[in-house]
Amino acid sequence: MKSSMFRGAYLFHVHTDRTDGKLSVQDYFTLAGQYGVSSIVFLEHIRKAPNYDVEAFISEIKYTAQMTGLTASIGFEAKLLPDGILDISESHLALAEVIGIAEHGFPDDLTVLKWAFSTALNSYTRDLGNKSVVWVHPGLWFRKRGLMHSHYQDYCSMLNEAQDAGVFIENNLRYGLVDESLSAGVAPSSLVLGADAHAQEDLQRWRDWRTSNLPQPILADDGDSLDRDMGSVSGLLTT
Ligand SMILES: [Zn+2]
Ligand SMILES: [Zn+2]
Repeated sequence: MKSSMFRGAYLFHVHTDRTDGKLSVQDYFTLAGQYGVSSIVFLEHIRKAPNYDVEAFISEIKYTAQMTGLTASIGFEAKLLPDGILDISESHLALAEVIGIAEHGFPDDLTVLKWAFSTALNSYTRDLGNKSVVWVHPGLWFRKRGLMHSHYQDYCSMLNEAQDAGVFIENNLRYGLVDESLSAGVAPSSLVLGADAHAQEDLQRWRDWRTSNLPQPILADDGDSLDRDMGSVSGLLTT
């Protein structure tokens, strides 16, 4: 588990106009600069055969990071498939610094979901190296079927299994699956805040959430106060 990208004033989980987002890579860097973000963790949709140029996307991020002086990490949100693999090619997996596991489009079968999830956790957390794995909008499959309440124990056991495998759990602001994750007893060190941004209003919501849930940075003259005072989201959620 690599966690350095989830420290300080990071912006995690943004979608660009390469897929269904409205903002460009450049837009995110511009807005991040205005919002006091020091690092952007892109998490773009992907499939085994994506309909955009993944290498060009990565090059644009790296180039813009250099030009702006902000840190950026490359990530992809991949769908969990019923055979326990993620919908991403080996070569694109190798380029990713962070992988998001998503339940989008998974069939209506809890037994298969649990099996596929376990299988994916096993294979994708082996030989991780410097890669991070995040279960994004965890429990969306349960939520969409109205099963969160009746199958809460299944949800909790999946959260535990993910954490035991060293997978981060996303506190997803778009779907508001925050309370479920928190009340399920996710360890603060496993939680990461995700904007799941597609447009500027999503960034606004992300910023408002941070403003009301995190202490504001206190300007100091040593220049490194931002990271220290904003702290990690996960740590502060326990208070
Ligand atoms: Zn998603
Ligand atoms: Zn997403």
